[in-house]
Amino acid sequence: MQIIPRTTSLHTGRLVLAPADPLQAVDQATIIAALHRLGLLGGQRSDAAASAFAAGPALGALIGFTGCAVQFGGEGRAAIDVGPWLRIPPPSEAPRLFWGRNTRPPRCPACGAPLRSWRERLPVAAAGDVAPASSAPASCDPTSCNAVQPLRCDACETTSPALRWRWGRHGGAARSTVSIEEVFPGEGTPLPALVKALDALGAGPWVFFYIQD
Ligand SMILES: [Zn+2]
Repeated sequence: MQIIPRTTSLHTGRLVLAPADPLQAVDQATIIAALHRLGLLGGQRSDAAASAFAAGPALGALIGFTGCAVQFGGEGRAAIDVGPWLRIPPPSEAPRLFWGRNTRPPRCPACGAPLRSWRERLPVAAAGDVAPASSAPASCDPTSCNAVQPLRCDACETTSPALRWRWGRHGGAARSTVSIEEVFPGEGTPLPALVKALDALGAGPWVFFYIQD
């Protein structure tokens, strides 16, 4: 059983927006400019990487929140600004797989069967490496395991790269992402104006999922 590293306080969750096609990518500056125009981004966060922003004035018009979805600060997070915030990193060269403690067994792209042992099978090989089955699992950031890792279905024996498996709203693969912290899974969804703007960025339609570290 792979042990998942955790932060000291339990992460509420993040909403992750990404192109539906995990091979597609959008230039970081293009995404940031588009989201600034929409009013989704506020000021750049002083204490974080250049890709982190406070939420802008249109947050509530672009993302629909239900329940106590947005955490305003919290224990163990005193070092970051209070309130929801966004992260828009540069696209990765290859698609990465995003998963967390909330991720459920992905479904086989061929037969739809869930793969119960996915956690044990994933963090093995880096890009291009083919690790022998007997080798010890390499350390792997659970939020960015290589998404081309082949996974073999127990039910139909088809082998497909991880990015082709169906992760639902509990994980996914992407090169470009827009993350909104802190959103409990299912309690924040992109509204039509945001979906339309993302779909217009040239990478095809976007999807969303939730990750809890
Ligand atoms: Zn299958």
